[in-house]
Amino acid sequence: MPQARSIVGVDLGGTKLAVALVDDTLGVIAKTVGTSATESAQACLDDLYRRLDEAVAEWGPIDAIGVGTASMVNFRAGRVVLSTNLPLRDVPLRDLLRERYGVPAVIDNDANVACLAEFRYGAGVGTTEMVMLTLGTGIGGGIIANGRLYRGASGAAAELGHMVIEADGPRCQGACPNYGCLEVYASGEAMGRLARDEARALPESALGQALASGEEVHGPLLSRLALDGDPGAIAVLHDVGRRLGIGIANLVNIFNPELIVIGGGAAEAHDILLGPVREVVAERALHPQRDEVRIVAAHHGQDAGVLGAAALAIIELFPDKEPPPR
Ligand SMILES: [Zn+2]
Repeated sequence: MPQARSIVGVDLGGTKLAVALVDDTLGVIAKTVGTSATESAQACLDDLYRRLDEAVAEWGPIDAIGVGTASMVNFRAGRVVLSTNLPLRDVPLRDLLRERYGVPAVIDNDANVACLAEFRYGAGVGTTEMVMLTLGTGIGGGIIANGRLYRGASGAAAELGHMVIEADGPRCQGACPNYGCLEVYASGEAMGRLARDEARALPESALGQALASGEEVHGPLLSRLALDGDPGAIAVLHDVGRRLGIGIANLVNIFNPELIVIGGGAAEAHDILLGPVREVVAERALHPQRDEVRIVAAHHGQDAGVLGAAALAIIELFPDKEPPPR
């Protein structure tokens, strides 16, 4: 029996920097969570190094580092190409980490690594054709085709949130020049907007009261209120689910996946969100693929980022540790 390896998984997000020590069956041994420094590229890297130095001093020796980041990444080159919420542009992060820590390192974008974690160690175990959508500030996507992550020509594939579902819809967010993208209707931003509308219509609902008291609306809050039976939160998730279903019907037709996995706080409401998704897919997608696909919530919650980063390292660097597909 080979010795268990010690993998450091890093979740470098636009606001959060989490670092975890994970074994090669994806069990979390230790974890720290803080905020990412965003003043400059150097500040961001220095902060990452400081956190990793501390982790290695406390947890070491380590065998590998995996990073998932809220950035466009050229996976083969190991470079962060561009970020919307981090000051990183054209940074050879993989090689910087290899040199500094003397261990193999890999980086990819956060949506891809979350997809890998679900595929190998979560809801997708046993599948070979899977699509994942993560509902956060935007919508992240990941595609598993023929048992491998599909990255596209330059690593920028699977921007599933930028699929147009309404040709004359509102302008998309961030750097996207398009209109009526799925992200406009089903991201965390969209949920906040829908929640404000719903709170005006149902001011006495728990959602209305939460908004009136200044609470920030996000997926986890909506899920919690909806599971408690609040009509306002249920209405928001129903609306989001119907829109999501339109996008997913397209994905079902294009990829004929066995499984669609939905991640992010809103998916914690399970059938309250996924019921409307399944209804729309049944109404709009083609036969037989609409009948073959399962649509489920992600297994990994808050730890999805660090677990995904570690899963990336295990899959890419230690392929002997990959559990075989069933
Ligand atoms: Zn867009």
